[in-house]
Order: sequence, then structure tokens, then C-alpha cells
Amino acid sequence: MGNERYRFKVGSFECLAVSDGTFTYPHPIPFLFANAPKERLEQTLLAHGIQPEQWAEWTSPYICLVIDTGKHLVLVDTGAGGLGPNTGKLLQNLKADGIAIENIDTIILTHGHPDHVGGNTDGEGKSAFPHARFVMWKDEWDFWTSEPNLAELKIDEHIKELLVTFARNNLLPIQGQLDLIDKETEIVPGIRAVSTPGHTPGHMALAISSMGQQLLVISDAVIHPIHVEQPDWYAAVDLSPEQVVNTRRRLLNRAAIEKALVLAFHLPFPGLGQVAQKGEGWQWRPIETTG
Ligand SMILES: [Zn+2]
Repeated sequence: MGNERYRFKVGSFECLAVSDGTFTYPHPIPFLFANAPKERLEQTLLAHGIQPEQWAEWTSPYICLVIDTGKHLVLVDTGAGGLGPNTGKLLQNLKADGIAIENIDTIILTHGHPDHVGGNTDGEGKSAFPHARFVMWKDEWDFWTSEPNLAELKIDEHIKELLVTFARNNLLPIQGQLDLIDKETEIVPGIRAVSTPGHTPGHMALAISSMGQQLLVISDAVIHPIHVEQPDWYAAVDLSPEQVVNTRRRLLNRAAIEKALVLAFHLPFPGLGQVAQKGEGWQWRPIETTG
């Protein structure tokens, strides 16, 4: 299916961008661009073909990634599970692509938000991948499994509660399968962790390389293509705005200099593109896909 599975290669690694479905968010302007000056935001939206007054909803894909390195079968993020009416499609999309779920040996969680860890568990609250090794940044695990302070977030209280409950319900059951990292270590050969705090305290990007080709998995460092152009505009769910802006600038600069292929979890499917320097910021250039 055109907007659910997309195969590509990074050197000798076989990769699959795979959708867990989509989720529709109300009030996209304050949600995505919490601090954007009104006039400039409106001009930018118009330049992207969006009528600010009429923009009542924003539908985002949830894009996970499978990497077959030849030695390891790695899954990056597990989607949202039963969060919304159109989420939780990861497993069926993997199967449709011929991937045997039990062969996935490593699962990397970029951060603890519901759309990234919601598929960790099955309908009974048990690990959905009982034989895999899970990997997460230590600060991220510590944050969600202690008493997370979400006071600064400009979102409804019931959504804050949902974030915490969802994280606990999907993290604690995989505790026995978990490796926590606190260094930019190589998780499996060719896949290196990159510390990218801001969106959450232990948000992790990945630098994937094979035979001289690069893929930078930036997860939620950027949530909308406009964040690439306007890296100072943070989202209501970005826990530390200052850190998120620094992290974004560092990642986008790296992507542009290295001419790396970039995968972003929330950008239009398949979420793959390149980043080019433009003025004070950068520009998102999605790859050309056929079909
Ligand atoms: Zn997300």
C-alpha cells in the first residue's frame, strides 16, 4: 500500500518505513507552533498551502522503521497501539510485508510518548515482542517510570494523565527485556544512538550507516515540515523548548552537511527526505516516491 509501507536501502541494509496508522489532532496551530508569532506563522502556513483560519485538524502518520542489517532485524518504535481509531496497524503492516514478527531481535524506543511505545504490549498488557531486546535512553526510562513532571506543558490535564498512564502501561511490562543506554553507543553494528533531548528528557535519534550511506532517524525532533524552516517554533508537547531548539539545529545542520537521508516519524509518509540549508533555517525536501 502506497502510504503504509515503503522499502528502501541504506548501503547493504534493507529498510522498511512502515505505518502504524494515522492520528488526527485538533487545534494544530497552538499544538504545533506554541510560540510562533501570529503574523509570521500565518504567512508561513499560506506559503505551505494551509489556510490558517480553516486549519481545524492536523492528521499525522505514525511511521516506524524496520532495518535488516543482515545480522539483526531491528524495529524502531512500536506505534500507538490502541490510542486512536486509526492506529495500531504496525503488526498487520509488518506481516503484509512478509516480516516474521518473532525474528525482530532488537527494538529501539526513541522516546516514551504513546505513539512510540503503544505497541510494546498486547491486548493483555504483556510484551508483544517477548523475545526481543528493547533499548531506550536511561533518562527517558527514569522520567516516565518515576513521577514525571509535566507541569510546563501547554496541554490539557487529561492528556498529561494519558501520557503518563500510557507510558507506564507500555514500559513496565518490558522492563525485563530492557537495555538502558546513557552514551552515544552503537546499539547494533551500523546503528548508533544520538542524544537529542528536548521533546522529552531522553529523546534519542539514530545514526544508521552502511557502506558509506547514512540515514538519520530524527523521530520527533521535528513534528511538521515547518519546524525545519522555523526551528525556533516548538510544539506544545515539547517538554524543554530551549533544548528542543538546540537539538533541532544540531540535527538539521548535521543532516544538511552529511547530505544524509532523514526519517521523521510525523512527516508525510514515508517521512523520508533530505534537509537543505535555506536562509536562517533549512528546508525539508521529501524523497520522490513512485506509486
Ligand atoms: Zn510522536
